[in-house]
Amino acid sequence: MDSQVKKAIIDVISLFKGAKEAGLKQVPRTHLEKIIRIEKEIEKLRKSPKKTATSLESVDLLTLEEMVRKCTLCELSKGRKNTVFGEGSNHPILMLVGEAPGREEDIQGRPFVGRSGELLTKMLRAIGLERKEVFITSVIKCRPPRNRTPRKEEIEACLPYLLKQIELLDPKLILCLGATSARALLKTESSLSSLRGSFHDFDGRKILVTYHPAYLLRFGGSRLIDLKKQAWHDLQMLQREYEKIKMEMEN
Ligand code: SF4
Repeated sequence: MDSQVKKAIIDVISLFKGAKEAGLKQVPRTHLEKIIRIEKEIEKLRKSPKKTATSLESVDLLTLEEMVRKCTLCELSKGRKNTVFGEGSNHPILMLVGEAPGREEDIQGRPFVGRSGELLTKMLRAIGLERKEVFITSVIKCRPPRNRTPRKEEIEACLPYLLKQIELLDPKLILCLGATSARALLKTESSLSSLRGSFHDFDGRKILVTYHPAYLLRFGGSRLIDLKKQAWHDLQMLQREYEKIKMEMEN
């Protein structure tokens, strides 16, 4: 329920309670007038359009990008320099989905630039892919302050854009980089380690989950070696599936 409607209902209840506590048998006229005003307010709120990315049905990719550029559905619009819609092939077999833009991405309006972008480019090259062959985007299109994890309501507001991108670009494979994108798409609270290691069905597409490059960059020494091994295992799984799908599409 809309929080404003909820608040209005609580206001009405407290008016009734107040009258009861004051030992009144009837609701005073002033209370009744207030209740009628609140009722009208609730009706207005019910009729006003909901603040989510609805009406995306007949939207094409360019229009969607424009909608994202102008979007003010969540608080993150206030602090952004640029929205980051994503970039790459318009007919990708593979889509990569990260969490949210960071500082560099916000400045440039492009996904995965800076250090984590360099690592992602290397990861793709290691399995024979260039950035322009895939589509790279994120769940959230505006930078959260100080790169904090996006909040639930921000993910809910922004997710329809990603779902529309998936529908329009029609990738057969999706690589989720980090737990945030995996949880948002797979509607789960499971840990990243339990989501890794196998493909998940997503409306007939396959989702694979691996570490976010920024996470890998946080470590050094033996922990980094271990994480790199695991990421390499994920990438090899992805490469096998990618080649299989490519071959099937060519035949
Ligand atoms: S993060 Fe998404 S929902 Fe929030 S303002 Fe940016 S584009 Fe809109």
